[in-house]
Amino acid sequence: MSIVKDIKCEYPGCDIIFFGDGHRKYCDEHSKLKYRKKIEKASEDDANILIRHLSHELFTIGRACDCCGVDYKITLYPKQFIYPRYCELHRNKFKRRNYKGELHVGSI
Ligand SMILES: [Zn+2]
Ligand SMILES: [Zn+2]
Repeated sequence: MSIVKDIKCEYPGCDIIFFGDGHRKYCDEHSKLKYRKKIEKASEDDANILIRHLSHELFTIGRACDCCGVDYKITLYPKQFIYPRYCELHRNKFKRRNYKGELHVGSI
């Protein structure tokens, strides 16, 4: 018997909570085929970068956000090489899409 629990839809920007057995990631609407391409495209948009470093101590570097170009700080940890690609604001996938959308309209 599978355990039914409430799951939040993982589709970017969707906040629907539905009940499922843990195998479903998306709400009824976003389980439809037409969303699958968008979901695959979104997951290609990797939110992390690989930073190879040899430090054995914590240290902080500055980096430009790949979305907006704003400088943000990353704390590097020993033996950890995966770090966020975006500034704190744009770590949210929905906000990145929003940002790009605004650029497209040319509101700046
Ligand atoms: Zn959804
Ligand atoms: Zn940013």
